[in-house]
Amino acid sequence: MISTILIIGGGQAGAQAIDTLRREGFAGRLVLIGDEPELPYQRPPLSKKYLSGEMAADRLPFRHRAFYDEHRVELKLGKRAVRLDAAARQVTLADGENLTYDRLLLCLGAESRRLNCPGATLPGVHYLRGLIDVPPIQAGLKPQARIVIIGGGYIGLEAAATARKMGCEVTVLEMADRLMNRVVAPSVSRYFAEEHRAHGVNIICDTRVVHLAGQGRIERVVCADGGSHAADLVIVGVGAIATTELASAAGLACDNGIVVDEYCRTGDAAIYAAGDCTNHPSLHFGRRVRLESVDNAFEQAKAAALNLMDRSVAHDRVPWFWSDQFDNKLLIVGLSQDHDGQVLRGDPASRSFSVCYLKGRELLAVEAVNHSKDYMAARKLIADRTLLNVDKLADSAIALKEAI
Ligand SMILES: Cc1cc2nc3c(=O)[nH]c(=O)nc-3n(C[C@H](O)[C@H](O)[C@H](O)COP(=O)(O)OP(=O)(O)OC[C@H]3O[C@@H](n4cnc5c(N)ncnc54)[C@H](O)[C@@H]3O)c2cc1C
Repeated sequence: MISTILIIGGGQAGAQAIDTLRREGFAGRLVLIGDEPELPYQRPPLSKKYLSGEMAADRLPFRHRAFYDEHRVELKLGKRAVRLDAAARQVTLADGENLTYDRLLLCLGAESRRLNCPGATLPGVHYLRGLIDVPPIQAGLKPQARIVIIGGGYIGLEAAATARKMGCEVTVLEMADRLMNRVVAPSVSRYFAEEHRAHGVNIICDTRVVHLAGQGRIERVVCADGGSHAADLVIVGVGAIATTELASAAGLACDNGIVVDEYCRTGDAAIYAAGDCTNHPSLHFGRRVRLESVDNAFEQAKAAALNLMDRSVAHDRVPWFWSDQFDNKLLIVGLSQDHDGQVLRGDPASRSFSVCYLKGRELLAVEAVNHSKDYMAARKLIADRTLLNVDKLADSAIALKEAI
């Protein structure tokens, strides 16, 4: 009998698991352990409207406190789980409290990858992952302040757009030869670089930061090519690493994430994991992945919650992701890695286009820039493995859903 379920990690996945467990009838003891002091909240606004001050703090939590009370969820917030004894089915918190479980769900998320060059810990060098990171960044986003962003990925670019909208002088330094290079096509990188430049962001690619310099506080960012960029504040966005220490110290398999199967189960029958912290199989694409997206945390946590109650439900979804930069919305659905063909639909100059990735005639992924129709159609076409007519696909006058 499953009387007690513990969830460690009060982010997107943890909050969703609680919702599903109670909605689907779990009536036992339900405990949420989270090391952040706040009620579980949405992270995406932290680089967008919450950072700019356009969104109020009370809109961030998924649920108000009354929801947790009504649903008899014991909240242990501001408390870090420091030890997991899988044999004894026991979790120890930093304050010494021990909690036992029948089933455990790990929703530990990911942590910002840290820079380790000289000067990386100078005051004025910031990372953006949690609510606690926002006030010191906001305090520096003043008109004309010189903001250097290290890393031209989603978070760096969203922060760049927000800082620029707030009147800052913004420079983005990217090591690769183009923005978002690991996740989007060159045409999409080019489009976003042009958009940022048109808004006055200084985008510099092919440059490697080697030194953060300053007397007691960040003053400049120095690159291997000799470039030196004056900075009042630096935001580092160079990727994230799955949080796995608790799991690996307990003997659970970890390899770029906590290794789980399609039922979100670890190698221990009582322990499950969901969200950014997992390395899991994508059944649709036939490969293992680690994803950092709201959609994955939401869907995987839903499946995990059902499996915690012994309902056998595989996590089998085509993943999707979004990013907002200035007035542009980028929507990505599917995984493009195994493609053997690419088709551009529409003209980037029109500010609305999409890049379709194919394997033979099967659609694997779409990157849609300001084109929600293509994105919506792609979700279904990819999930159904519909074979496309490539000539029709290339004709943007034909709706994507009709390109069959
Ligand atoms: C600034 C920002 C912008 C983003 N924008 C987008 C976007 O536009 N679109 C999109 O799809 N995704 C976006 N994401 C990604 C998305 O927010 C994450 O994929 C999602 O939050 C993952 O949910 P999670 O529950 O797996 O992890 P998290 O939300 O990271 O939650 C994990 C929680 O576990 C806690 N924890 C870890 N270890 C312990 C421990 N030992 N004890 C107790 N608690 C612990 C952490 O502190 C954290 O609170 C963004 C992320 C950030 C940071």
